[in-house]
This record gives sequence, structure tokens and C-alpha cells, in this order.
Amino acid sequence: MGLLTGKTALITGAARGIGKAIALKFAAEGANIAFTDLVLNDDMAAGLEATRKEIEAVGVTCRAYAGNAADFEQTEATVKQVKEDFGGIDILVNNAGITKDGLMLRMTEKQWDDVINVNLKSAFNFVHACVPVMMRQRGGSIINMASVGVHGNAGQANYAASKAGLIALAKSIAQEMGPKGIRANAIAPGFIETAMTAALPDEVREEWKKKIPLRRGGQVDDIANVATFLASDMSSYITGQVIQVDGGMNM
Ligand code: NAD
Repeated sequence: MGLLTGKTALITGAARGIGKAIALKFAAEGANIAFTDLVLNDDMAAGLEATRKEIEAVGVTCRAYAGNAADFEQTEATVKQVKEDFGGIDILVNNAGITKDGLMLRMTEKQWDDVINVNLKSAFNFVHACVPVMMRQRGGSIINMASVGVHGNAGQANYAASKAGLIALAKSIAQEMGPKGIRANAIAPGFIETAMTAALPDEVREEWKKKIPLRRGGQVDDIANVATFLASDMSSYITGQVIQVDGGMNM
């Protein structure tokens, strides 16, 4: 028996990167997987289907749902469909995220709105739609993918504010929903080797690594392991917490 056998997990933005690693690890622990991602062209559709097949090959049921996590009505429809397809939702991982960096004086309203909508409003959308399902089941685990939200970051005011919002959202849900058996926590990854960080210039990547006591960038599985712990009953007395998974970069 796996740690998540018999559970259904819904993960946003899981066609690649950290979300995909979480989906694969949850599947290896026996969870059935529903995941979403943005599909704007044929390549993205192919990526979604390739990831679905890879997860299914682990030996669980897996369905992929194309959609924009920032869209409230689309999200309601997606969650309704997931509930119909799987019968329930035990674990929600709000992972979909983007960056649109810029120093405050140069940041446009669009940069601000896009990042807040995709990173923060999306989590509200999914929590709002999933919580009634979890309440009926008398339990669930919600995990928000935070980041520099704990400390802030120059050049990322929009991103850091969205991630701080995700932390406060998790803490608020933990307080409201604890009596209903629903836990909510946040993971704050540090510098993780994914497409998001590969896009940074080499000198920025090297500077960043110098600040990490463990002297390496994190791997997606470093995050997936902690997500599995928070999703499972191993963490049944943990709620409203932020776990920093960053090689000791922030203490
Ligand atoms: P990634 O860009 O590889 O993956 C993000 C996924 O989200 C992509 O598949 C993308 O298509 C999807 N997505 C983007 N906009 C969406 C939308 N509107 N609706 C649905 N899906 C959407 O990034 P990643 O590095 O795997 O990051 C995953 C999460 O972890 C993000 O929330 C990110 O902010 C957070 N994070 C990453 C790092 C890092 O170092 N990589 C550090 C801290 C936090």
C-alpha cells in the first residue's frame, strides 16, 4: 500500500516541472491523478497528453484537463468534471504559476495583474470549488506552492506578493476549515532546477547557488517528497504551516 492509496489528487499546472514531479510521486504512492494545465497551442496539447500517459503508466487513473487556472468559471466547470470523473477530491495542489519580473518603477499594470491572477486568484478559484467537495468527505489536504513570499525579492514584487498571498490563504483556510478535517499548508521552494529557473542568466543562477548552504539547486523531487508528506496522513497534525525547501537558503 502506498501513502496515498485510494486518494484522488488534483494538481494545477502539472504538465511539466514541479507539478509534474508531484503528480508522478503521488501516483507512485497510489493516488489517482487529475491535473490541469494551460493549452494555447498544439504543442501544449501534446505536452499535456504526454504527461498524462507518463502518469498513467505508473499504474493509476490519470486525467488531464485543459484550462486557465485564473478563470473562475472554467475552474468551477473543471472541478465539477473532476468530481464526476473520480467521485471525490482528497488533495488539492495549487501549483500553477508564472513570473513577469521587473523593478517596481518599470512594472506595468499588466505584469502585476497577470501574475496575481495566475498565481493567487487561481488558488482562490480552486479552493473555492474544491472545499465543498472536501467538506462532504469530511477531510482533505490543500497545498499551496509558495516561494519568495516569506521574504520578498527585489525585481519580483508581483510574484512575491502573490506568493505571500498564497501563504496567508493557506493559513486562513487552515483556521476556517480545520474543524472540518481540511488541512492547508504551503511549500516554499528555493532555487529549483526547472524551465522557470533555466530561463535566468547563468551569472544570476551562480550567484543564487552561492547563497545556498547545501551548495546545489533543488531538484523537482525535493519538492515532490515534501508535497507527498503534506498530502498524506503522515502529516495529519500539521496545518497552516510553510515548509521551506531551499537547501537552507532562508532560515
Ligand atoms: P514551470 O513553468 O515549469 O511550470 C508551471 C506550470 O504552470 C506550466 O506547466 C504552465 O503551463 C502552468 N501554467 C502557467 N499558467 C497557467 C494557467 N493560467 N493555468 C494553468 N496552468 C498554468 O514552473 P515550475 O518551476 O515547475 O513552478 C511550479 C510552481 O512552483 C510555480 O507556482 C512556481 O512559482 C513555484 N516555484 C518554483 C520555483 C523554482 O525554482 N522553479 C521556486 C519557488 C516556487
